[in-house]
Amino acid sequence: MSNLELDPAETVDECRAAGESAAPMVVLEPREVPLGGPRAMTVHRTLPQRRRSTIGAWCFLDHYGPDDVSATGGMSVPPHPHIGLQTVSWLFRGEIRHRDSVGSDALVRPGELNLMTAGHGISHTEYSTPETTVLHGVQLWLMLPDATRDRAPSFEHTEPVPFSLPADAGAVVRAHVFVGALPGFPGHAAVTDVHSPLVGAQLELPAGASLELALDAGFEHGILVDQGGVDVDGAPLRERELGYLEPGRSHVRLQATDATRILLLGGAPLNEPIVMWWNFVGRTHDDIVRARADWQEQAIEGPRSPDGRFGYVPVSQGEAALPAPVLPTVRLKPREQ
Ligand code: MN
Repeated sequence: MSNLELDPAETVDECRAAGESAAPMVVLEPREVPLGGPRAMTVHRTLPQRRRSTIGAWCFLDHYGPDDVSATGGMSVPPHPHIGLQTVSWLFRGEIRHRDSVGSDALVRPGELNLMTAGHGISHTEYSTPETTVLHGVQLWLMLPDATRDRAPSFEHTEPVPFSLPADAGAVVRAHVFVGALPGFPGHAAVTDVHSPLVGAQLELPAGASLELALDAGFEHGILVDQGGVDVDGAPLRERELGYLEPGRSHVRLQATDATRILLLGGAPLNEPIVMWWNFVGRTHDDIVRARADWQEQAIEGPRSPDGRFGYVPVSQGEAALPAPVLPTVRLKPREQ
């Protein structure tokens, strides 16, 4: 997916309690962002936002659908570049075809993961397939830590095997772990290649189900509600909201008010201020200026060449690559949190 927005820099200071955190969940509301195009598919974005830029390495959370593709046009993103991040594509309904400049051509369907590692530079396309009538899913980005953000690009597709988490009164919660592992369930750890301590999991709770979920106390966590509603330690969280939990919690009590599907996204705080603009994650304004110039020269202004930083992604419908937006006139400053 391609980001069409520029967020102002913002610093958020969170008090980090020693030991177990008693801080209440912070509810982060989504904002609607049109992705562009003639029929304009709209996404609900919960990261980054004014009150919070990152949760562990998670730095971008877009939720979309369920959308009637005949009305929205579905997903249609021509060739565009990325640096310094990984894209995580996870669907609830529909099908998306991904192609990229390292030669990948992969569908992603519900229960499957497409993980693209941009590193120094990659370009890709994403289209919902002609068979898709309803599109519903998320696109999430992970910032790469400084040690690996300049690595060679790569792509992997995985199909995590779902398993059952015991809940109170004999209820069963179905879990898919697509990144990292859930504490207490190391046998169900994801095999995906990530670069900092993380967890990413889908949990499906029957109406009324209640469970105590173990957490890694070194992580901060986000709970994104796709469908239904859930009380998190007694505090309500509704559809499309993101609940933020600061580090220092070894468990959380979840109670579903309806049949509920959530994503649990957690990670160790990286404390690496980033500059995030368009589809690029860097550390300085100059990182962004260079990546933008490299893309414009290679894919927009010059003849498309496979030899440049962003390689070459085959086009299927003669579509033109996406030009980068104009840079803001002020220098981009790192975001602390
Ligand atoms: Mn993209």
